Amino acid sequence: MENLGISGDFYQELARQGIASEIISRETAAQILTSPRIELLPLLNAAFEVRRKFRGTEVSIHIINNAQNGYCPEDCRYCAQARTADSDIEKYPLKSDEEILAEAKNAYERGAFRYCMVFAGRGPSLTRVTHLARLIRTIKVQYPPLQVCVSTGLLNEEKARILKEAGLDRLNHNLNTSERHYPNICMTHTYADRLNTLAAARRVDMALCSGMIVGMGESSDDLLEVVYALRQLEVESIPVNFYIPITGNVLGPASPLSPEYCLRVLCLFRLLNPQAEIRVAAGRELHLRSMQVMALYPANSLFLEGYLNTKGDERWRTLQMIKDAGFTIKSDHAIDELLRKEKGCLKGSCDEPVEQVSMKRHQDLRLFMPSMTAPVKG
Ligand code: SF4
Repeated sequence: MENLGISGDFYQELARQGIASEIISRETAAQILTSPRIELLPLLNAAFEVRRKFRGTEVSIHIINNAQNGYCPEDCRYCAQARTADSDIEKYPLKSDEEILAEAKNAYERGAFRYCMVFAGRGPSLTRVTHLARLIRTIKVQYPPLQVCVSTGLLNEEKARILKEAGLDRLNHNLNTSERHYPNICMTHTYADRLNTLAAARRVDMALCSGMIVGMGESSDDLLEVVYALRQLEVESIPVNFYIPITGNVLGPASPLSPEYCLRVLCLFRLLNPQAEIRVAAGRELHLRSMQVMALYPANSLFLEGYLNTKGDERWRTLQMIKDAGFTIKSDHAIDELLRKEKGCLKGSCDEPVEQVSMKRHQDLRLFMPSMTAPVKG
């Protein structure tokens, strides 16, 4: 493969290997990330062929709910909820059951395929796990098509089994970064702790969601480590987050990521994890900017309504982007119906179109026009 050079054959071979679930060599993977000789458009097309083969043209919408915000004893340097962070976040202890159930209903009605509940903290007590299991059962009874995912921190097998038996569809527990880089982003738990949680969940047959945060000072090798580790773990879902430098995070600002680099990363995740649900997750608006829509070619899911502590694009803009690019949504609801509600409701009536063309005014048309209020001489 390395001898083909960067011709059309190279991209066809990438797609073939992805579709055949063959492992792309480390050398090729490194080139995909950084070599300008590998062009973005044919690379995206190769990743799209693999996505289409296993995931069609559907997009799964995920809505995330911070069931508790802040008060975390851990020191993850990228996180605004860490005890060591000085971020201006809205802290609150665990929401009431009523609030969590109302938010699940809202997610379902807004077209979410999956509802993710996130609990800040090192890991839940047995009491909290039992409580959470009750909530999961209720959601599954009330909104059976809605898939439920939780992110609870470190878990042992006993706790994972309780959640599994309650009907939990998937556990989120990100690797975040490589084993080598892990001590640079967190000191209160280790990469091995995270692997142990994933292994405990696997022992009870739990589907796994595990991804990374790109842009935390990791090297290309670190990134590749994570891509190959997730392949080896055969995780069903991979959220690819791009670091959001919230003021007060210990990690602070990081080197900006280019939209092209972000797209290359997503292509790599798709080519090496061909059957997984790849999610363009936090930071898509910030880092992909005008190239966001291109992420749907390698990725087949995204978050609607923002992230843990930061807002995302308006819902209707995200839905419109999916529709405009010719993708469909995986939901109980039709995308046109959702869009009509979202756009109409912005104007107070669900039947009115929201798009209005604004007319240019004098000051837009004649930038150098003398002031109308200047006194007329002579
Ligand atoms: S990432 Fe999770 S465990 Fe780490 S500080 Fe944030 S909330 Fe706590």
